[in-house]
Amino acid sequence: MAKRVYLFGKGITEGNGGQRNLLGGKGAGLAEMAKRGFNVPPGFTITTEVCTAYYANKRKMPAGLNEEVKKSVAAIEKHTGKQFGGHKNPLLVAVRSGARESMPGMMDTILNLGLNDTTVEVLKAKSNNGRFAYDSYRRFIQMYSGVVLHIERANENEHDPFEIIISEAKNKRGFKHDNQLPEEDLKSIIEKFKKLVLEKTGKPFPSDPYKQLEGAIGAVFASWMNDRAILYRRKYKIPEEWGTAVNVQSMVFGNMGDSSGTGVAFTRNPATGENEFYGEFLVNAQGEDVVAGIRTPLKISAMATTPHLENCYKELCDVRKHLEKEFGDVQDFEFTIENSKLYMLQTRNGKRTARAYVKIARDMVNQKLMTPEHAIESADPEAIEQLLAPVFHKESYQKAINANLLLTKGLPAGPGAATGTLAFTAEKAERWSTHGPVVLARVETSPEDLRGMLAAKGIVTAKGGVSSHAAVVARQMGKVCVVGASEIDINYNTGVLTCGDKSIKEGEFISINGSTGEVLIGKIDTAPSELIQVLIDKTMAPKDSELFTEYDFIMKLADKYRKLGIRTNADQPEQAINAVAFGAEGIGLCRTEHMFFKGDRIDYVREMIIFAAEYAEYKSKLAQRPGDAVLLENEYHIPIMHFKDALEKLLPIQQEDFEGLFNAMGERPVTVRYLDPPLHEFLPQNKDQIEELARKLNVPFERVSQTVHSLHESNPMLGHRGCRLGIVYPEISEMQSRALFRAALAVAARNKKSPKPEIMIPLVGFERELELQLEIVDRVAKEEFAAAKRTLEYKVGTMIEIPRAAIMAEQIAKHAQFFSFGTNDLTQTTLGMSRDDAGHFLPFYEKEAGIVKSNPFATLDQIGVGKLMEIAVQGGRKTRPDIKLGICGEHGGDPASIEFCNGLNLSYVSCSPFRVPVARIAAAKSAVKAMPPPAEKKAVKSVKAKKVVRKVRKK
Ligand code: PEP
Ligand code: MG
Repeated sequence: MAKRVYLFGKGITEGNGGQRNLLGGKGAGLAEMAKRGFNVPPGFTITTEVCTAYYANKRKMPAGLNEEVKKSVAAIEKHTGKQFGGHKNPLLVAVRSGARESMPGMMDTILNLGLNDTTVEVLKAKSNNGRFAYDSYRRFIQMYSGVVLHIERANENEHDPFEIIISEAKNKRGFKHDNQLPEEDLKSIIEKFKKLVLEKTGKPFPSDPYKQLEGAIGAVFASWMNDRAILYRRKYKIPEEWGTAVNVQSMVFGNMGDSSGTGVAFTRNPATGENEFYGEFLVNAQGEDVVAGIRTPLKISAMATTPHLENCYKELCDVRKHLEKEFGDVQDFEFTIENSKLYMLQTRNGKRTARAYVKIARDMVNQKLMTPEHAIESADPEAIEQLLAPVFHKESYQKAINANLLLTKGLPAGPGAATGTLAFTAEKAERWSTHGPVVLARVETSPEDLRGMLAAKGIVTAKGGVSSHAAVVARQMGKVCVVGASEIDINYNTGVLTCGDKSIKEGEFISINGSTGEVLIGKIDTAPSELIQVLIDKTMAPKDSELFTEYDFIMKLADKYRKLGIRTNADQPEQAINAVAFGAEGIGLCRTEHMFFKGDRIDYVREMIIFAAEYAEYKSKLAQRPGDAVLLENEYHIPIMHFKDALEKLLPIQQEDFEGLFNAMGERPVTVRYLDPPLHEFLPQNKDQIEELARKLNVPFERVSQTVHSLHESNPMLGHRGCRLGIVYPEISEMQSRALFRAALAVAARNKKSPKPEIMIPLVGFERELELQLEIVDRVAKEEFAAAKRTLEYKVGTMIEIPRAAIMAEQIAKHAQFFSFGTNDLTQTTLGMSRDDAGHFLPFYEKEAGIVKSNPFATLDQIGVGKLMEIAVQGGRKTRPDIKLGICGEHGGDPASIEFCNGLNLSYVSCSPFRVPVARIAAAKSAVKAMPPPAEKKAVKSVKAKKVVRKVRKK
């Protein structure tokens, strides 16, 4: 049987930091810290595999686990010299969750477990501190009752029933803080708590420590499936199968008096990335007080001058340095000081904003504290988009300041500027966000507010510090966030937020700056981020932007590691230029139909479409009766004239467009996809028939039109589109080929640089389709090259976007120099779900029925659609080993899908211009993840050698 319980502590540690999957992040961190000599209170970790077994076993503990737990408790008793439930020197424990990826505040924790009416008296006698003993006991009852016995507040605006009892006691004495309550008050609070438990559950509060422990372990496992944990996992795509570990750790006490305390800290600032000790602590308190945001803690630097704690501060500064060196990344750690002795309770790689990520990665790599591989592997590619997020528009902001609209300054906790309607509850934030941006304001947030936080553009809280729930969660979500704005008063009942003599009502505009902590009345315009100013608007010099320098360092580092090329989907020169500024190396998809809508050219397109069918009819008759050529020409005189005329008018327009793209891209490859959508999409909608039915039924036109509209299912696009257009109307492909070659030749002549056109034929399913289109392209190329008296290199390939193409890839590759996976259509056709209509039921499939883990049109269905891609890759390479393979569906900008493409060894991914930075990082991250483990790494001789490998692959 696999080992289920792992001890940790000085000299007894059984696990290590590499066992995250088994021990969870917390368990692995504790084991590693203990091994590396940090002062960790001893304990044990019950593995994530037990959690999986617990759920497989209908939420029952696996047989024999209790005995193993007892054995481990005995080991801790021996190590500490304390006894669990003992009458002389009782061992108390903390029971905490710890998943593979941290899920801050989503699961449950219980402290001070092991206390009962007897042990509390021993604790009092031993510590000579009755206040401390009763305070610990009341905390334990309160936590245990909430987590294990489910005695909780009724709704989000109600108070916790236990907090009500505490508040009454404080009010009676006129106290502000719980730590002012004397021993006798705590004793009476405990009695009231126990009475409440009896009333609510019909049973007395459990006093047997082993029973308490069993309940707590079960509750932590059960909390893996609570609503907020499920919601969090969905948002961050954490698989349900992972489960959580449970950590049982001997207690140390931060609430022993003024020489005790507790805190959380980051080795660097996780909001800005500054190399400064960042954190906070509370004197005479336990860990949960800091995270819950109930008391506003002090800055960590204040500990240097706090009586009894000065030496601990010095020790903490050493710990800070030591942790970064040992763990090779910024650490987010928890500590407790018991009677001036420092204990480490947890460490993990600190979550950080994208802003902090680039700075920390650049600085720590330069300081040789972090490996370049880790800098890339620890990136959150999606978060890179945050760097492109807006800031307040300078003038609009100054106007607000001059008008005295600054309400207050809280703590900056999630950078960026947000403006929106003020909402006080998660429910309103969620509802109102469908109409426009919302800023959620709460006195303090709890995990129940997660939905509202997800929906809001920004979050502001009156209480709590930079590591409170609101701050931690907002940072991770990339939300603008201000916490601890203690001057504001949020009145849930009247719906008014007040600060001194100023106020804002719910529903009115509020603006917040999560980089400075400012909270302002009204709407303030936002301005583009510095990266946009440097790269796109060119209104800022690169050297003037620190953010740009750091971003650039990381992007260049990413480029060293990635194997995938990065291209963009662009059809306008401006889009192409933006994409190149973000690092695109070519165009992976130019949808030529997008060029058809500009200006009055749509009229020529419509003219072409309206006469296309008759023109095709003429041609077909001519093929059957060549002797009647003159007769037929007369008969079809009008359609021939219009159809040809329309194409002639379109030719120079298309040529001009292509020239624009070639100019923008220089010698970078430009993949031009020939006309793809069904032709009806270019035509106006028919109103007449709707009017007629409305008249017959005697109801208003809008009534019928609305119904027709709502019942309309878009054509799933299985009709006359893609290369099928060019097969039936070869003149269209000919016109596009001519425009493309003329443009390429013109640009080559002007710029002395040869564009690299790649012609891409859409929706191919049959080898013959591609062959027929290829004939046109090659013939036109020859004609145009002859006319220009020069040649150009070009490639012709196809999209793989219907299952038959994937299956027949071996044959199709005979005629294709490249494949590009059109995964939008490939998903649509493989799943038999229209990409236009699936939105009606896909959310249900994903969120309610759990049939799909994520939207397959956003994140590749790797085992289904991905399987077809694998078949196509194999088939293509079999016929043409050097075939170039890319992806240009929306999945080309999705990090998980990019990782899959990296695994298939594709040549490139292509995505929209603003996703290019995300794709660069995602490609590098997947390459680093796929690198051999350190021992095998030596085989790769040098970075130089690696570069050569990459260059060869990219070709
Ligand atoms: C695709 O199908 O993935 C694709 C890129 O083409 P389009 O979205 O234009 O159909
Ligand atoms: Mg397509």
